[in-house]
Amino acid sequence: MPEKYHISTTPVPPRLPRIGKYGIVDWREDCARCHNCVKKACVYDRHRQESAYLRTLKYSNFLFFECMGCFYCVQNCTKELLALTINSEYENLGNQYWTPEIIQTTWQQAETASVPVSGAGYRGKFAGRGFDAMWTDMSEIVRPTRDGIHGREYISTSVDIGRKPAHLEFKEGRIVSETPEILDIPIPLILDMNPPEFTLPRLEPFILEAVRMTDIIAIVDSTKWPECLNEKQRQRMDAYLPNIAFHLNSEAPEIPKDVLRKTRMVEIPDSDDALDRRAALREAVPGIVVSIRVPLNKRGVDRAVALVDQGADVIHGVADFNGNEINVKNPRFIKDMIREIHTRLINSGARDQVTLIAGGGIALPEHMAKALLCGADVVSSYLPFMIALECRLCSDCKPGLSCPAGLEAIGFDYGVGRMRNLIAAWYLQLIELMGAMGMREARRLRGDVGRAMFFEQMEEEIFGTLFGTRKQA
Ligand code: SF4
Ligand code: SF4
Repeated sequence: MPEKYHISTTPVPPRLPRIGKYGIVDWREDCARCHNCVKKACVYDRHRQESAYLRTLKYSNFLFFECMGCFYCVQNCTKELLALTINSEYENLGNQYWTPEIIQTTWQQAETASVPVSGAGYRGKFAGRGFDAMWTDMSEIVRPTRDGIHGREYISTSVDIGRKPAHLEFKEGRIVSETPEILDIPIPLILDMNPPEFTLPRLEPFILEAVRMTDIIAIVDSTKWPECLNEKQRQRMDAYLPNIAFHLNSEAPEIPKDVLRKTRMVEIPDSDDALDRRAALREAVPGIVVSIRVPLNKRGVDRAVALVDQGADVIHGVADFNGNEINVKNPRFIKDMIREIHTRLINSGARDQVTLIAGGGIALPEHMAKALLCGADVVSSYLPFMIALECRLCSDCKPGLSCPAGLEAIGFDYGVGRMRNLIAAWYLQLIELMGAMGMREARRLRGDVGRAMFFEQMEEEIFGTLFGTRKQA
């Protein structure tokens, strides 16, 4: 049995006071000083923690919002002096897609590197837009693949990037057909470049250290070479290059060939001459995997399929950072675009030979699994790793404006530790999901829609005959 993939982690606490959802307002004036005060009975000990926080106050602009909202103290105070309040700062985190819940759970995972547990029962909605309109089939949750989670069996999360030959040819016992290089990564996750809307912090040195430690890949804009590594990292550049995939920006100076030879993958932007550029790169750097980045706009799906028809073997389809089709009035969501590309490649007979990387809107590890079920081989994501550093996804993140999370001045160990923890938490959740779905191999998740249920499809099947098809907005 091969050695198991493992990420060593340690907790990395936040630098700033936590921005929780609930706080308690305490009208102390009328307090009767009961000997069995309900505050002492808080199972999370929040009242004592709040007193300690106020005694050693470092930040006058942060109130204490760490109550879990169980209502125990509120309901049982004999003089009804306590009230639960919602933190307005919490409600302002992120946007409609990157909800405060997503941001808060990402902070928690980056701190602890563990699977978030929401407590007694799920209190959210059961269906929504985007990936929330898709459920995974967990019916195998009690079957033996659960053993894989607890170490007795092996659940493999590794995937391949590159062209896989449709068949092998042998002559006199030797393979004579071409066997292109493929790249194997331990989790179906690639760290992407930052979307242009979030430009404030320079995070590449942390990202590159975290991907080196976890052996995944980060895409780095070639304009940022070599500044993407800090002074110390540059002295041992060779240790980082296998985990870097340069996005070869045509406006940037060329990356030296001896540097490219030490990497395993590069990315080029889509253009009329993308396939010629790909061929030239493969000739100059034999064995390198070349991905073509295709923006998923109005013609993105057609373009991705056409590129594969013309010989491309790795396509990186990227929607906007909310997972929507780019610059379209009624955009489709990334999952629907992946399904269409995947299905069309199956129909053309090319699907098994090519790799589809899907990016945009991948905010949680469940999105990674769901994107794979829709037909992606690998997903790319960036913002969760920025959120890991206590970022709040402000709508006006720009150089020159002050960052409320102080991201310009974070420590190296803190930044790397939080990113590494988040990668580990995503990996653990993928294993949990796969165990519950009865899957032992991430490669087999690709396009297995039988393991998923789609809200629109079920609604149409159940209610369509009675009420007609739902009208799109
Ligand atoms: S509502 Fe619950 S969690 Fe919050 S302070 Fe009261 S007892 Fe503690
Ligand atoms: S906290 Fe706001 S300003 Fe700071 S990096 Fe995040 S989005 Fe940008």
